[in-house]
Amino acid sequence: MKLTIDEILNATQGEYLSGNITETVVQVTTDSRKVRGGELFIPLIGINFDGHDFISQAVQQGAAVVLTQRVLENSIIDSSKACFIAVKDTLKALQDLAKYYLRNFTIPIVAVTGSTGKTTTKDLVHSVLQQKYKVLKSEGNFNNHIGLPLSVFQLQKEHEAAIFEMGMSALGEIDTLAEIVRPNISVITNIGLSHIEHLGSQENILEAKMEITNYLNAEDVLIVNGDDAFLKNLNNQSHLFKKFYVGLNSNCDLKAENIINLGEEGSSFDVVLNEKKVNFRLCVPGDHNIYNALSAIAVGLCLDMDSSEIQRGIQAYKGSDMRLHIMGIQDNIKVINDVYNASPDSMKAAISVLSKAVAKRRIAVLGDMLEMGHYTKMGHYTVGCEVAKESIDLLIVVGTASAYIAEGAIDHGFDRQKIIVCDNNQEITTYLRKNMQAEDIILVKGSRGMKMEEIVTGIQERS
Ligand code: ATP
Ligand code: MG
Repeated sequence: MKLTIDEILNATQGEYLSGNITETVVQVTTDSRKVRGGELFIPLIGINFDGHDFISQAVQQGAAVVLTQRVLENSIIDSSKACFIAVKDTLKALQDLAKYYLRNFTIPIVAVTGSTGKTTTKDLVHSVLQQKYKVLKSEGNFNNHIGLPLSVFQLQKEHEAAIFEMGMSALGEIDTLAEIVRPNISVITNIGLSHIEHLGSQENILEAKMEITNYLNAEDVLIVNGDDAFLKNLNNQSHLFKKFYVGLNSNCDLKAENIINLGEEGSSFDVVLNEKKVNFRLCVPGDHNIYNALSAIAVGLCLDMDSSEIQRGIQAYKGSDMRLHIMGIQDNIKVINDVYNASPDSMKAAISVLSKAVAKRRIAVLGDMLEMGHYTKMGHYTVGCEVAKESIDLLIVVGTASAYIAEGAIDHGFDRQKIIVCDNNQEITTYLRKNMQAEDIILVKGSRGMKMEEIVTGIQERS
């Protein structure tokens, strides 16, 4: 990477304050601890920290250029060789600079949004595209107004494609992200209930997700789940861009058929590509992952990959961290670690995977789903219905809202003797340590804030 002071000044509409005007920067960071020498340090103002407090540390560690939206003490500026630039708003400057940086590349850009499955789909798309291209993906869950622009700066000359995840919790946020990267291929995985507290309705969630199409041109493509109640209706609307439906129903452009559920081993399915039936082997469990895989196959097709390359890419995907990760512990006991996050849709997906597992007992340990506002009761209650419908042998719940999971399960015929209500993660850990039996399989899932990884670690430690 090379950005000159002139470029930084132009892109951010900044004002030169002091320092070496001939500097170029080698990387952009908002974290002073990551400064190694030659970086542009952009201090952001957050709820708990103000990055401006770490400018001295950044320049001591060798930052070449520093942006600031605060008036700095002369002692900081005078004692440093770094170039200082004043901007109105450091966050906006970060985003504007990312936008500018990306204009140097004429490669295909893929963007993924949706209520659930963004990271999984992004990783699957990466696995497919990697078979043909040198491709950049945003790391982990770097999907917001800060993580996305920072990911952009990871692009290097040798990259032939890039894939970015886009998350949101309010209207307008995806538009900001889409304006930065201007994707050529956009994917919407589904319209669920995540963040409904802020958005109010699924119609509003659809509107917010559709912002990912705001910068698509006529030759660009939107890939959507054709079985999703909200997304399939897009077919009745006219759009400038092309639409590509993936799913299981016959109206889809790309359709999975002959699905064989292989339990924990994942699944196998056929898709007709270029008039030829092609078999895919997906190594992660759950029907929901077939949808994620179909989107990745569609992206591969849009980028001129042949079926054997796409096949290899799907098979090579081995799962994303903390998402339905099946781990063996002692006595042939298995844990399905899905503690990364939870929404009603991902809960139902996980319960379906648990119910299909071959085991002595199938135990669901479920915690609260947060940020559901007035959908809290209904969302948890429907998860309870799902527990009653599927083959679950024991339900353990923790948290205030999870009482509705128990209520939904009981109302739909689940034996109340098979429900254990716990006050905290420690209580669950203690219970499981004492009562787990050989060949049990235990799903652990709840929102990030429920810290249910404590249970996963706790039960692994049983001696
Ligand atoms: P976040 O909003 O936290 O970034 P995300 O949209 O990136 O989430 P993932 O991290 O891929 O989603 O998955 C989150 C949870 O949803 C996991 O439990 C995963 O198993 C489940 N999941 C993944 N894909 C789907 C899908 N298509 N439908 C329902 N659940 C899914
Ligand atoms: Mg994610």
